[in-house]
Order: sequence, then C-alpha cells, then structure tokens
Amino acid sequence: MTDTVDTTQQTKPQDQGLESCISRLSEERIQKVIQGVLENECGPRMKTYVETCIHCGLCSEACHYYLSHDNDPHFAPVGKVKQTLWEMIRAKGKVSPDFIRKAAEIAHTECNLCKRCAQYCPFGIDIAYLMTVVRRIIHKLGCTPQYIQDTAHSHSVTMNQMWVKGDEWPDTLQWQEEEAQGEIPTLRIPLEKEGAEILYSVIAPEPKFQAQLIYQAAVIMDVAGVDWTMPASIGWDNSDMAMFTGDNEVMGRIKRTHFETAARLKVKRIVMGECGHAFRSVYDMGNRWLGWKMPPIPIVHAIEFYHEMIVEKGLIRIAKKYEPTITLHDPCNVVRGGGLHEKARELAAAICENLVEMEPNREHNYCCCAGGGVINCGPPYKMKRIEGNRIKAEQMFAAKTKGAKVMVAPCHNCHSGLHDIVHHYGVGLDIKFFGDIIYEVMEKPE
Ligand code: SF4
Ligand code: SF4
Ligand code: SF4
Repeated sequence: MTDTVDTTQQTKPQDQGLESCISRLSEERIQKVIQGVLENECGPRMKTYVETCIHCGLCSEACHYYLSHDNDPHFAPVGKVKQTLWEMIRAKGKVSPDFIRKAAEIAHTECNLCKRCAQYCPFGIDIAYLMTVVRRIIHKLGCTPQYIQDTAHSHSVTMNQMWVKGDEWPDTLQWQEEEAQGEIPTLRIPLEKEGAEILYSVIAPEPKFQAQLIYQAAVIMDVAGVDWTMPASIGWDNSDMAMFTGDNEVMGRIKRTHFETAARLKVKRIVMGECGHAFRSVYDMGNRWLGWKMPPIPIVHAIEFYHEMIVEKGLIRIAKKYEPTITLHDPCNVVRGGGLHEKARELAAAICENLVEMEPNREHNYCCCAGGGVINCGPPYKMKRIEGNRIKAEQMFAAKTKGAKVMVAPCHNCHSGLHDIVHHYGVGLDIKFFGDIIYEVMEKPE
C-alpha cells in the first residue's frame, strides 16, 4: 500500500432516528427553539465570535476534514458555521426541517470539536464552541443522530453509557481481580474503601468490552503500592456523551454523580483511565456547567498518574524497555486542551526504546476524527469519518517510513478512530495505550 489514498467511495448516511425526528418538525417549532437558544443561552461569547470573524479562511487548513477533502470549502471551519449558525441567525430562526437535517450532519459528523482551528484563527475564534451551539439547538429539537442519542440516554438512565447493569459492574471487577490473582495472588481491587488516596474511574466500554484494561490497571496499582479504590455502584463511569449532544442538563448530572461518588468515599483525588473526552468533561465543560472553575476533587488523567508513578517517584521499575519503535498520537483533549504532551513524551522515554514523532505533533497534531462524539454517531457515518481523515493516514504513513511500528494513543476514542483509519487505508501500525506497554515492560513480583 502506498501513501496515496483513494477516498472516492462517497457515503450517504442513513440515520433513521434523525430522519424520523426531522419528519415531525414544523417551521414554527424550529424558529422558537433557535430563538430560545440564541436569546437565552448564548451570551457575549457567541456574539463576539460571530461579529469578529472576517471570513478570511485562515482556519481552513487547520481542519483535517478540509485537508482530507482536497480543500473543499464545505468542510472549512468557517464554512461549517456559515452553513449552520450564521444562516440561523441571519434568517432569525426561519429555516426548514431540511436545513436542520443538514445542520445536524455538519455539527455532529463533520466537526470533532477538536479546536485545532481555534489555534490558527488570528482572533482565536473557537469554531468548536459555535458547533456546540448548533448541537444544542439540534438537541432541543430532538434531532440528535440516533446512536449517540442512545448512548446519552443510556447514561441518563443507568449512570453509565453502556447500560452495564448494577450487578455486572462489581461482577466484572471481581472477575478481573480473580484473573489478576493468577499473576499476583495477593492482588485486590479494593471496592468502596473509604478514605483511600485514589478513586480509579474508567469509561463504560472498559467493563463492557475491554475488561483487560481494568486487569492491567489493577496490576499497575498493586505493584506501585497505591492506596486505591473503585466504587461498587454508580459514579464509576467518567465518560459523558451528553456533553457532545448538547444535553447540558444530563452532562451536568453525570459529572455531579461522579464527583459525589468520590466525595462519598472521601478519596483525596480521582485518577481516570486513558480517555480524552472524559478528561474534557471534567476540566472544561461539565465542571463549568456545574459552576465549578475547577473540579471540587482533584482529578488527573492516566498520563499524569503514570508519569508521577514512573518518572517522578520510581514506584514502578521497568524490567526492559519496549523495543518496537513507537510514534505518539497527541489526543486533542489531553494535549491541546490539557497540556500533557511533554509528560506523555517523558513517560514514553521511560518505558520505550525509541519514539519517532508524527508531523505535526503536540498541540498541532491532527485529530483522530473520532472525537467530539463523531464516532458515537455510529455506523451510518463511519465511512464519512474515515474519509474525513485521509490526512491522518498520510501522517501515519510518514511516521512509518521513519521506523514506527506501534502508535500509542492515550485516548479511547482516538484508539477506535485510528484503528478504523489504519484498517481502511492499510497503514499497518499497531495501536496501544500507555497502560498496555507499562503492563508489558514493568517488573512484577515473581
Ligand atoms: S474538526 Fe476541529 S479543526 Fe475542524 S472545524 Fe471542527 S474543531 Fe475546527
Ligand atoms: S474563524 Fe478566524 S480564521 Fe476563520 S474565517 Fe473567521 S476570522 Fe478567519
Ligand atoms: S478522540 Fe482523541 S484526537 Fe479525537 S478529538 Fe478526542 S481526544 Fe482529540
């Protein structure tokens, strides 16, 4: 496979949920909802962005969708605003159901809210924020794409996004504990330990599909001698798709439950697994909706935690560094948003023999095209998502020519999105979490 990629297979998404919602819309209702959001929920931030933009297009080349579609202006960041929010403002909300269908597709499946474009706008206009305003309108009209809406509903009802039942959660932890005891007989996954130093929280796909990640985390915690716990009931899932559907009320309820669980257990801080969007939901969006500038209990991403344990405190010793050359994907939400790029590299240097950089990297890295809830819009939009990130495939091919065999992606959504890109374009890179590599190279008790 060469590094030039054919993306001509165009896709026509079939989202039955979205279609049936659109068929029930009236123009009166649309106008009322749009006016309501614009007048009552959008303050000076939106007004400033809309009035400041000079339509210069400098943000265009920041966007992976634009680059991957041969500079098609439809996919330019400012083009997405023009086709959605500006038209809603100009028409004073008088737009058709068909317009709303297109706006829903653009805001939900043609923007990852990755904020790369905001870095390239001379005025710092945050297009991702403007797309969240569109998503809020779509949510209030009941027209959110079906798959992500189902996920948000699941979280609202069961307090986890994967409908993991109340008994399945502790059962899964117990199962992983027993598995890990095969390796370290004294290992425990401490449940409901009041006053522990750390509450470890994960996203719901871990117990549902990737229980081995909980196993690995338990081994790492155990070997490092960390005083940790996990909750036995709700509050363990730190993900938050409602943040991406514009359902701010449910987003806030999910975050409050998470922190209330940590407060109930009187832990000193929360450590979260390798997830980007969940991290954003606690440092940027969910916390602010709840009126907290910073989370009430400190919460750290796995990169920071592993860095602290391995680089700063030496609580985990490395038996033999990981030999295959790695490259590092900088997840938007933990790097552009969370500033963890240097810690990620120091951690990589401590556990791996060689790292070759993707270009561009750090806060300039291209998004995986899965984030912002785009991958959660499900199968109808899968090819659109993959076609929208040819540029990432080209970036990966370039890293491969420098010797990379493995890509480390410390974010769940990135993992899934990059896996699709690797598979579709035939990139031939293995994808791992930091936790996978740490587990593999650490010294463990005999
Ligand atoms: S996908 Fe990222 S770069 Fe593109 S418009 Fe959205 S926020 Fe901007
Ligand atoms: S958002 Fe910024 S960079 Fe993009 S067109 Fe407007 S002013 Fe130019
Ligand atoms: S999935 Fe990863 S790269 Fe994509 S927006 Fe989220 S954090 Fe960024």
